Amino acid sequence: MENILQDRRVHELLEKVDRDLAWKAQRGRCEHCGGQLHRGDYPRKPRGGPDWDKRYSFCCSREGCRKRKTPPSVRFLGRKVYVGVVVVLVSAMMQGLSEERVKRLRHALEIDRRTLGQWREWWMRSFVRGVFWRAERGRFRWPVVEDQMPLGLVEAFGAWRREGLVNLMKFLSPITTSSCRGVLAM
Ligand SMILES: [Zn+2]
Repeated sequence: MENILQDRRVHELLEKVDRDLAWKAQRGRCEHCGGQLHRGDYPRKPRGGPDWDKRYSFCCSREGCRKRKTPPSVRFLGRKVYVGVVVVLVSAMMQGLSEERVKRLRHALEIDRRTLGQWREWWMRSFVRGVFWRAERGRFRWPVVEDQMPLGLVEAFGAWRREGLVNLMKFLSPITTSSCRGVLAM
């Protein structure tokens, strides 16, 4: 598992998906006034992944509008300090582990106990009770175990492997846009 977090190929795939999502967003126009969109990326310094220092975002070019359009992302799960794949996989991995093993992993990954607690809280409350999950949960062939999130999702997507992980991040990406912002409030 720790290996997939260091997998360069996974990072490249996620970068490519984010570039495509950004390209699609920029091709569209400003949703408020129809103006052209210019690059206006957000600086980021995420932990647990490559040096991803920009979250793609666009700004309306019209004076007096300047509204933002931020495409979904498979790399950043909102404003969390760690890259999205860490928030997903590490949270899943911790479920059902002995305290000793959790502690070892925390040290190896340099994630403090408080952060892990916040992630657990976020998955169990904001995510499971949020509009996104309530709308999407019906599409799974087998019910996803909700009191073991995100482990249930990781298993449903086979996300311990490269392809499944990228698919899971794509599935989650709508919650990273403003229309679902409530889900990411933490
Ligand atoms: Zn505009």
